[in-house]
Amino acid sequence: MFFTKKKYGEKLLKCPRCRIYMKKIKKEDVIIDVCEKCNGLWLDDHEIDKLNALAKRTSVKAKSKKISKTKSKVKSK
Ligand SMILES: [Zn+2]
Repeated sequence: MFFTKKKYGEKLLKCPRCRIYMKKIKKEDVIIDVCEKCNGLWLDDHEIDKLNALAKRTSVKAKSKKISKTKSKVKSK
């Protein structure tokens, strides 16, 4: 069988509305299928989880930035 090299994102998805192939967008290890015509997004279940984890990580980063800002404020006092 030729399915040994199975990877995410190798299979192109067609938009069910526009019937055109959707563009693959890679966000770290998450592949999102985007229809450029109707801006429809397609995700697998586990891709949503990955995106959520990614969003959490990003917000944590933003938070830690805020913390370091307040810290420098305290220093300048
Ligand atoms: Zn579409």
